[in-house]
Amino acid sequence: MLNYEEIKGIIRCETGLRIGGKESTAEIGGVDNPVIRNPLDGFPYIPGSSLKGKIRFLLEHAEGKIDDEGNPHECNESNCMICKVFGKNANKENESNGIEIGRAIFRDAFLTEDSKEELKKLAQQTGLKYVEIKTENVINRKKGTAEHPRDMERVPAGTEFEFSISIRIFENDNKEEIINFIKKGLSLLEKDTLGGSGSRGYGKIKIKF
Ligand SMILES: [Zn+2]
Repeated sequence: MLNYEEIKGIIRCETGLRIGGKESTAEIGGVDNPVIRNPLDGFPYIPGSSLKGKIRFLLEHAEGKIDDEGNPHECNESNCMICKVFGKNANKENESNGIEIGRAIFRDAFLTEDSKEELKKLAQQTGLKYVEIKTENVINRKKGTAEHPRDMERVPAGTEFEFSISIRIFENDNKEEIINFIKKGLSLLEKDTLGGSGSRGYGKIKIKF
């Protein structure tokens, strides 16, 4: 009664990508604003939760299904694609809402082997561990001068990650509709941005299936 489909491909960073990691895990001598890394090999990755969160946000906007209080959308419509794809929790105030099992499983996206090699070379040249450092200033609007420079780690443009989205297809599901809805989300992500500082040029990505 349950089958799995998969959408997979490459996420290519067209501009620097910054998905912040916890500073407490930063190495001594590291910058204040590290990117998230796999603790086993130190390479940056894109958490599935970051992909899911941003794609959900964009699709909720595209569908006009934004919660006024900023919570994730949830409704009782039988054919709501947001609830179907991203799931729905039974909440205690209204048990009749029921549980909708989310169809999409967003896997963490890891570097391609080629990008690992490129970033290793970069690390040898720069001494930076698989990232570039971008210094951001805050502009003082009265004086017009740059103040408070902050060093931000980001994954350099040109880096590629392998992504995979597994999709649960139940007996009565319309497979094409679900797959197309998720692909629509990926296409919105290309038009928008992934990670932090998107309005300042970070996080433009290209998807190859
Ligand atoms: Zn809904």
